[in-house]
Amino acid sequence: MRPVIGVTCGYNEEKSRVHCSSGYYEGIVKAGGLPVLLPPAEDTDILDEYIGRCDGLMLIGGPDADPRHYGEHNLAFNGEICPTRDNAELYLARKAFGLGKPVFGICRGIQVMNIALGGTLYQDIGSQHKSDEVLKHSQSAPVWYPTHEITALEGSNVFRSMGETRFFVNSFHHQAVKNVAPGFKVTASAPDGVIEAIEHVEHPFAVGVQWHPELMWKKDSRFIKLFQMFVKHSGCRTA
Ligand code: MN
Repeated sequence: MRPVIGVTCGYNEEKSRVHCSSGYYEGIVKAGGLPVLLPPAEDTDILDEYIGRCDGLMLIGGPDADPRHYGEHNLAFNGEICPTRDNAELYLARKAFGLGKPVFGICRGIQVMNIALGGTLYQDIGSQHKSDEVLKHSQSAPVWYPTHEITALEGSNVFRSMGETRFFVNSFHHQAVKNVAPGFKVTASAPDGVIEAIEHVEHPFAVGVQWHPELMWKKDSRFIKLFQMFVKHSGCRTA
């Protein structure tokens, strides 16, 4: 039996539509898991049952979280907010952590994980992140193309997935982790100091990455490794 991986969805409230890019759930299949899409719900009984039935939780990319969730005002350069999705994903992330279920967060997902456990974000890297040389984190290049380098912490899951400390990733974010939530450590950063990956030190598998491996693994098979590690950990729970 394949581990069941709950994959959150984007939600367009205006059009009453949920959506999920194929690279996420195809990556779960490729890695040996059974993806199940989880549309946002307001009813916490539904969210509890989502988590109860899933062996692992994947938090996908999307718009900006409401800064009220990390105690800040909504500043001028913060982007689009989806309150229903914010509430559902933060609830699911906290539940998954509480139950010790593996969590893999991508882009917005690393940010949701961090907020859920008490961390904060830069609402806009270009306006708030101080560095002599801020990198282009919203790339103008094909989605699969790695445009900036990062350095991973030796021994981390991110390091083990790639087999080296320095490698290039794609980049589609204007926000980033600022204060790291208690229990997490930074496991990859860009040369400008922007945090690109965090991992929980005690949880069996809680990894967030700021890049988009779901858009890269078809071109570079190294980027499926984190999916495989995530699905494997999710499977350990059911074995
Ligand atoms: Mn980046």
